[in-house]
Amino acid sequence: MQLRGKVAIITGSSMGIGLAVAERFLKEDARVVINSRHPDKAREVARDLGHEEQVIGVGADVSRSPEAERLVEATLGHFGRVDIMVCNAGTSLIRAAEDITAEEWAHVIDLNLSGVFYSAQAAAKSMIRQGGGNILLIGSILGRVGLPRRAAYCATKHALVGLTKVLALDWAPYGIRVNNLAPGYIATEMNIRDQSTSDYSDQDILRRDPMGRYGTVEEIAQGALYLVSDASGYVTGVDLPIDGGWVAYGGW
Ligand code: NAD
Repeated sequence: MQLRGKVAIITGSSMGIGLAVAERFLKEDARVVINSRHPDKAREVARDLGHEEQVIGVGADVSRSPEAERLVEATLGHFGRVDIMVCNAGTSLIRAAEDITAEEWAHVIDLNLSGVFYSAQAAAKSMIRQGGGNILLIGSILGRVGLPRRAAYCATKHALVGLTKVLALDWAPYGIRVNNLAPGYIATEMNIRDQSTSDYSDQDILRRDPMGRYGTVEEIAQGALYLVSDASGYVTGVDLPIDGGWVAYGGW
């Protein structure tokens, strides 16, 4: 029960990594806010997970600052506080750099970078008043290395590494820790959508990954629990890959 009494918001938690993080936090007795762009979807997922004393669903498009603020306000309205913000919502784009449209570029930047900042900032304002809190960004191994046809995605995930450092420094005096978790390849809907572009296959991942497999959403959730709990009490400003050794390997 490492999160007993804590209130956690997880952006983009109707499926994939965000949902697994929400489920893990609930097992640790946290009270949890499920978020998706679609209010009905967020509420439906929350209802499936538990009673509203423990978990609620809030629809908000966190790529827009007022929506991120509304997500935090709804949390304060229901649970009275916010202790943990996991900035997980993100999107991918696989396209040659010369073919990316201005709209596609803006969409990725708005969600993966600005949306993360808006969510973190909205939570931090409340955490500063409360006297502390914990913020976790969900980056990627593509915040460490480049991959062709991912200019916008790689730019945002590299940016999160720098953003994490500065937010950690700005908010350390207020008792807020800020870290970045960098997953390797995880078999979520995002991965299925990405593979539908024929850019890579399961076989490519299994061959390239030093551990020869995908990571699981549970393994990412376990890392998230470590970074938001007292187990990592003196850790802030770091970028932690959970990737089966992907970024450690520089060969073919
Ligand atoms: P996913 O596509 O399965 O889930 C994304 C979630 O974000 C969904 O719940 C979706 O509804 C939500 N979302 C999308 N736009 C939103 C918006 N504007 N506002 C609020 N919610 C929104 O993705 P996933 O694989 O679970 O990825 C989650 C995070 O992990 C992303 O930031 C992604 O970049 C990162 N990541 C994933 C992998 C992987 O292999 N799956 C690897 C590295 C990093």
